[in-house]
Amino acid sequence: MNPLLKSFLFIIGGDIAIEVGRELLNSKGEEITDEDIAENIKERIKGKKDFEPEDEEILKVNTVRKTLYVLYSEKLAQFRRIRDKSTGWFIYFWWEDFDLIEELLFEKKRILQEKLRDRLEYEKENQFFSCKECEEGNINYTFEEAFELNFRCPECGNPLEVQENQDIISFLKTKIIQNRQITFSTED
Ligand SMILES: [Zn+2]
Repeated sequence: MNPLLKSFLFIIGGDIAIEVGRELLNSKGEEITDEDIAENIKERIKGKKDFEPEDEEILKVNTVRKTLYVLYSEKLAQFRRIRDKSTGWFIYFWWEDFDLIEELLFEKKRILQEKLRDRLEYEKENQFFSCKECEEGNINYTFEEAFELNFRCPECGNPLEVQENQDIISFLKTKIIQNRQITFSTED
């Protein structure tokens, strides 16, 4: 399994997601039911001598099903369902959509970069005011809000003072640089 996919699966669903991902890959483009996935994982894992009691969780069909929905919501898996005429229950058939992983990660990176830049602009353009007396309130007012309040705390009447946001600004700048440097490699 490519390491990028493996880490992404782990981030969204832990070890169980890696196991489920492995089974989806093993089915090689064929659809597979959640019951079969759970069954295959059971066979694969139970043979290992380092099997831990907490691994039991991985073997439950419900856990597999929940994990598949997480993959689905992350656009990494798809399903179709048909109703079993004899039981009336739905049977779910799943397949992977892992080719999209790089695209998905770049998209996440782009969205985060945008949010950080917006926040930075906001912090740079705005002065914030707060009341030093009401510690638990810890409310930040924009200039307009503070102006409306005549620069008086609505809780205790003490003057509102300008808040330093230099720390936040330099924190955001560091985050932006770090985010820009992230690369996604599918190489082993
Ligand atoms: Zn106050």
